[in-house]
Amino acid sequence: MMITEVEEKEEDVEDFEQLAKKLEEASPLEIMDKALQKFGSNIAIAFSGAEDVALIEYARLTGRPFRVFSLDTGRLNPETYRLFDAVEKQYGIRIEYTFPDAVEVQALVRNKGLFSFYEDGHQECCRVRKVRPLRRALKGLKAWITGQRKDQSPGTRSEIPIVQVDPVFEGLDGGVGSLVKWNPLANVEGGDVWNFLRTMDVPVNALHAQGYVSIGCEPCTRPVLPGQHEREGRWWWEDAKAKECGLHKGNIKKEDDTTADLAPAIVHDIFESNNVVALSRGGVENLLKLGNRKEPWLVVLYAPWCPFCQAMEASYVELAEKLAVKGVKVAKFRADGDQKEFAKQELQLGSFPTILLFPKSAPRAIKYPSEHRDVDSLMSFVNLLR
Ligand code: SF4
Repeated sequence: MMITEVEEKEEDVEDFEQLAKKLEEASPLEIMDKALQKFGSNIAIAFSGAEDVALIEYARLTGRPFRVFSLDTGRLNPETYRLFDAVEKQYGIRIEYTFPDAVEVQALVRNKGLFSFYEDGHQECCRVRKVRPLRRALKGLKAWITGQRKDQSPGTRSEIPIVQVDPVFEGLDGGVGSLVKWNPLANVEGGDVWNFLRTMDVPVNALHAQGYVSIGCEPCTRPVLPGQHEREGRWWWEDAKAKECGLHKGNIKKEDDTTADLAPAIVHDIFESNNVVALSRGGVENLLKLGNRKEPWLVVLYAPWCPFCQAMEASYVELAEKLAVKGVKVAKFRADGDQKEFAKQELQLGSFPTILLFPKSAPRAIKYPSEHRDVDSLMSFVNLLR
């Protein structure tokens, strides 16, 4: 009896950082099995209606009983509701739906209309329709399982551990540290999840066949083009920095605590290469002033925390190497923080990254209009306009 009590105490204070390290090489099936074995009926899979359906299949394969919950925001695509139904039938389960508070939704919509997020950002609507309902759902659990993967958002999701004490939400026992978050797919790549779904004949959201990768609410999700990152299909009218909906905002490292919900992440500089000149504000102002330049300049306006800037880092550095021998100067200008207003007014900054070509003889910079930021597309742009 004594021994059991001691063992239980040790279990209570489990070091999840250590456990995450131990499980770093484990398969999603092993991780799922461990999570279900440890938490039994106090753990549930968060199912969004996208390829995180893989989690349900993994749970089935463990042979253990499992729970699934989902947030019905009221704004999902019909295809997502169909998938929920198909999943319930295939797995013989009932998904535990949580709905937003009717009074809060009513107040939001009566005050601001049905599409206020296009005007003033998605955070308020997400808070009412997703974050608060999620908080309520999690208060009934000791652990949850998500489908987050490191490759989903190069900036905000690049450090997802297999298991962690949830940095944002509270669980059944209340207080900091009362909830554990499992991410069995953290180290799996999107392509492998799809191979698994196909092989196991798992029902999937019909929207995927129409080009949707990441799937959320209907007004805030769109298909992406080949080569575009999946997160570009979400809240595409906003700056990249704000693209976590709040459900996983612990992924975003806070720059300063006074920043409200969604602070910019990180920290180290990017586009570090001998072929990329780091321009100061004075340097950019000079480029703007010169009508006749000795050589054309390609300049990226960036923020080091921006996942889309991070995602194009490798192509931009490779491009700089190629352009160095062609007499084109390649540069970067950090345009967040104090420089943002200036960059918006003088440098056509819309969202990060913005790429500008200062041709040799034209006085005005030409903004790169496309979201294809691979080496070949950027090279054609430079060659056509230099
Ligand atoms: Fe509202 Fe869009 Fe967030 Fe859904 S994703 S809760 S519709 S802002």
